[in-house]
Amino acid sequence: MSATDIDHGAGLVVVGASLAGLRAAESARLAGYEGPITLVGDEFHLPYDRPPLSKQFLKDGAEVDFHTTAEELAALDVKLRLGAPATGLDPTSHRVRVGDSDWIPYQKLIIATGASPRSLPHAPDLDGVIGLRTIDDALALRERLRPGTKLVIVGAGFIGSELASSARDRGADVTIVEAAPIPLVRAVGETVGQALAKLHERNGIPLLCDVQVEELIGTTHVEAVRLSTGTSLPAELVVVGVGAAPATGWLADSGIELHPVDGGVIANEFLQTSLEDVYAAGDVVHWPTPRSTDSQCGWRTGRMLLIRRTRQLSMPSHRRMPSLTRQSPTSGATGTRAESSS
Ligand SMILES: Cc1cc2nc3c(=O)[nH]c(=O)nc-3n(C[C@H](O)[C@H](O)[C@H](O)COP(=O)(O)OP(=O)(O)OC[C@H]3O[C@@H](n4cnc5c(N)ncnc54)[C@H](O)[C@@H]3O)c2cc1C
Repeated sequence: MSATDIDHGAGLVVVGASLAGLRAAESARLAGYEGPITLVGDEFHLPYDRPPLSKQFLKDGAEVDFHTTAEELAALDVKLRLGAPATGLDPTSHRVRVGDSDWIPYQKLIIATGASPRSLPHAPDLDGVIGLRTIDDALALRERLRPGTKLVIVGAGFIGSELASSARDRGADVTIVEAAPIPLVRAVGETVGQALAKLHERNGIPLLCDVQVEELIGTTHVEAVRLSTGTSLPAELVVVGVGAAPATGWLADSGIELHPVDGGVIANEFLQTSLEDVYAAGDVVHWPTPRSTDSQCGWRTGRMLLIRRTRQLSMPSHRRMPSLTRQSPTSGATGTRAESSS
């Protein structure tokens, strides 16, 4: 397909139907954009609030809090495509591939595919070993967490620590294994890290620091975790919380500039990527701002691409934007990921 075949009536396509993607679509409408908007997401759920998944959702059986409803999206005239994983991007023909062979044309594209949990290298595919990122992960975990369930959490980052506390409250027999000598030391420093370690101790949660996982043992279901110390911990459930990496595998052949360390999308201060008409927002992006949330990043992206197009709207510089909440566990002080701090 040549550039002359580009469907410039294709409008705005947002890939990633979570916080940043939703806010980008909403803000494009708020900024006065009237063309077509398509929001594409691989999950089957409407955008929802992820942070409670390691907290109230597990601990108290709280309901999932959705950021929007199908009716609200319909009122904004946002076409929703859920259960639709983007699998490729062809910037020359301005198209995103969805699934095996379905292509969606775009005039402008926003990449908001967030971050996926890292897995343990060379770990066998065993039942009972999960990462915690989606509603479905959290539901599977909640169903299996019973009094006495032997749970090993690999990684004492934010998510691992929150999960440990929630699982303990549900009566599970929890052990945390952490490779660093002090938990979260890179994110919060030694003093706070040591205080967190004491908190786990007070909650009756063994925290094994400076220890690596050597092997997950089991035939079909995980049965134990063998450690670098030579000991094995019996395990019915293993949650791997060793950080998250930007979900950019689907962009591999697109020619877009990705970060050499973690593969995140590199964008400038206008959230514009190295590809024409392609922007990025949220946890997936590296951009030069010291403080902003994924929500702000989404709002900013949606508006920014219209500003650059119409020059009719004003947008405060990020230097003047307030910081609303703490950075995501996958985000570092420069808007990049702290690799093992989830
Ligand atoms: C358990 C947990 C607890 C957290 N707790 C906190 C907290 O306390 N405080 C805090 O600030 N942050 C927290 N976070 C992080 C916070 O949830 C994220 O910063 C935020 O969700 C990022 O939003 P996002 O839209 O950029 O990405 P995400 O929420 O990761 O969404 C990306 C979306 O894109 C989809 N996607 C990925 N690849 C594709 C593809 N190829 N095609 C289509 N769709 C795709 C994903 O399935 C997902 O729905 C937590 C995260 C988790 C998982």
